[in-house]
Amino acid sequence: MRASKIVKSEKFKVKSENSQFKNQNPKLTEIHISGAEGLYRKAEINRIVRRYIERALCHPKGLTDKIVVTIENIKQRPDLIESLPVSTVFCRTPAEGKRIIKKIIQSLGISKRSTEIAFEIIKKGNMRGAAIISAEKAERIEPDHGRGVRVSRLGISPSALTRLSLALSRHKINTDTVKEAIILASKVASCTGILAELCVSDNPDYTTGYVASQKFGYVRIPHIKQKGKRIGGRAFFIKEGVNAEDVIHYLEEIPVIITKVSSSKGLVPLYEILNYSHK
Ligand code: AMP
Repeated sequence: MRASKIVKSEKFKVKSENSQFKNQNPKLTEIHISGAEGLYRKAEINRIVRRYIERALCHPKGLTDKIVVTIENIKQRPDLIESLPVSTVFCRTPAEGKRIIKKIIQSLGISKRSTEIAFEIIKKGNMRGAAIISAEKAERIEPDHGRGVRVSRLGISPSALTRLSLALSRHKINTDTVKEAIILASKVASCTGILAELCVSDNPDYTTGYVASQKFGYVRIPHIKQKGKRIGGRAFFIKEGVNAEDVIHYLEEIPVIITKVSSSKGLVPLYEILNYSHK
């Protein structure tokens, strides 16, 4: 599902004949309001489409002008993967969150420049998908920098969903937002060549971001932004020299289902996260 809205992006001021400034031709831009995707059985389609439409119509980013729902019959057998282990780091402010993110990301071998580029992309916001940044030279490798790459064809089996919900309930984080992000991050981390993902939601009401990687799992970072802010986005860091087309093909096209659920912890000190390698 993709929901968007048309807004006036700028007011051009031009000098008129009598030397007064007037607004002319406000430029119209389409902004991304909400998106969602998943792999479901035929019997679930009605329920899921209703849920997606409701989400698009009630999004805190505003009333949508257009909702596009695409339903595809996926014939390829999905790859079966394990979800990332989940933990939450103690964080009180966006500045502290940024320091934590830098420590985690840079201990995965990602350069300072690539980390800064990711922060800039997230600050700018308004992408439908994720930016893909090379880990050393900080090169953007996705073909459309405005759109990014949208991870699709991902899901979780009913029994794994029950186990994940139960594990998250113990830490009071059993929400659709958290579960959908874990499913997405687990597919991304399972992609050969991807070292880490950084995500800040563009939902003004949701202020917990995350860094995900095979090495440290899915690390939640509370207060990564101030409430009410619409900035947000996603960045995937890939190893230098990896074939971009293969990565994008995997993320967009290969169906992947979580059938195994990893451990879920509550608050974990940063040093413990950095000293314990999941893989
Ligand atoms: P959200 O976590 O849904 O608030 O999304 C935050 C940002 O992540 C969005 O603005 C998009 O840029 C990006 N994003 C959301 N869903 C996806 C996806 N399926 N694949 C890639 N990027 C996404």
